[in-house]
Amino acid sequence: MSCIIIGASHAGVNAAINLRNLGYQGKITLISADKVLPYQRPPLSKAFLQNTLPEQRLWLRPEAFYQQKEIDLMLGKRVISIDREQQTVELDDGQCLTYDKLILATGASIRRLSIPGSDLIGVHYMRDCEDTMGLRDALPDAKNVVVVGGGYIGLEVAASLQKLGKNVTLLLNQERPLKHLTSAVVSDYLSELHKANGVNIQPNAAAQAIIGDEKVTAVEASNGECYPADIVVAGIGVNPEQALAQQCGLAIDNGIQVNQYMQSSDENIYAIGDCVSFFHPIYNQQMRIESVQNATDQAKTAALAICDKLTPYTATPWFWSDQYDAKLQIAGLSNGYDEFVVRKESENSLAVFYFSKQRLIAIDAINQPKSFMITRKYLHQLPAVDKNKLADNDQDLNTLFTELVGV
Ligand code: NAP
Repeated sequence: MSCIIIGASHAGVNAAINLRNLGYQGKITLISADKVLPYQRPPLSKAFLQNTLPEQRLWLRPEAFYQQKEIDLMLGKRVISIDREQQTVELDDGQCLTYDKLILATGASIRRLSIPGSDLIGVHYMRDCEDTMGLRDALPDAKNVVVVGGGYIGLEVAASLQKLGKNVTLLLNQERPLKHLTSAVVSDYLSELHKANGVNIQPNAAAQAIIGDEKVTAVEASNGECYPADIVVAGIGVNPEQALAQQCGLAIDNGIQVNQYMQSSDENIYAIGDCVSFFHPIYNQQMRIESVQNATDQAKTAALAICDKLTPYTATPWFWSDQYDAKLQIAGLSNGYDEFVVRKESENSLAVFYFSKQRLIAIDAINQPKSFMITRKYLHQLPAVDKNKLADNDQDLNTLFTELVGV
């Protein structure tokens, strides 16, 4: 009995751990293209970039852990093909390994800028540990930084670099940051926060060209302005890493298609994490989620299925982002909301509750951890919630929700 896991980020490592914890007796091989021990990604754009987290604290598990759990960790190896008939994978060093079960935890790869000047020295991205270390090495010589993209990467990198004393300009494609993910209330809060901390945040200013002779000197934006830059960091999204799955003929639909047990169109191959397209029964739609929670929970679902303990995936998605002293915590998916209410506990503490057809579907909480935790716990069990009560600070949310669900 053997299980090969391709990819050793949050999804892959947790799949291996879950298999062992569930009593899987076979050989487990965890293959990573990275040369370093598997690590956490969230700190890459925050504490690790700011140099306040040593490399060892980045590791998901110490090296000895993999030996203790008899997980054969292969670092710096890339799988180049899968043979589904023979049930083998071929590595870039010529090795051929046999599997009974295969888990694809291949993640996502960053989108790169394709505008003039994109290949100049000084253009950086942020996806893996090496990216952060490369950016950190370049920082001492840099005064002006242009960050391209108003997603989480753009916002977190801008906050980190501003903290490090750089002059940061943040260029947005849209009129507000996180427009694709949240309401104007949250975007505006974050915009003001960045401005108050000194970031030059520019809406409707897509990067159009990077200027420089060998090395970056400025970025031209669609608003007609040109911003000086010693360094450019682009956070313009990711694509699911599905090439191996595609090459061996698995079903694909903006990600590797899986059923509720994370099983692909081949019964011996599972897929988990950022690379996966799945049907979420709570939202009644096909989706792909890029988050640590999703990777970790899907890893458990796949491990349970491999150990013949079939448990469908129904987890409520949740996310978080730290910028300056603000903690944004999100539970549920707010896209498609038709109404929202705001619960403001102070100038720096607010929660936005989103509704679709009178049902509470998500919360974005800024510096309101209690509201986030309680809502996350009860979100999809709640009947209609009184919106006025949600917005009322004097109303205890725990009491409100527990009464509604009858516990
Ligand atoms: P993202 O959420 O897709 O955001 C990318 C942003 O860049 C979008 O707003 C996009 O605008 C914009 N953009 C694209 N081309 C641009 C251009 N030429 N000029 C200016 N803006 C441009 O992706 P991301 O921020 O790069 O993050 C990558 C992945 O890591 C995501 O899955 C993210 O969720 C994850 N991540 C999560 C966290 C967290 O949860 N705290 C932290 C870091 C990363 P359009 O929408 O108009 O294309």
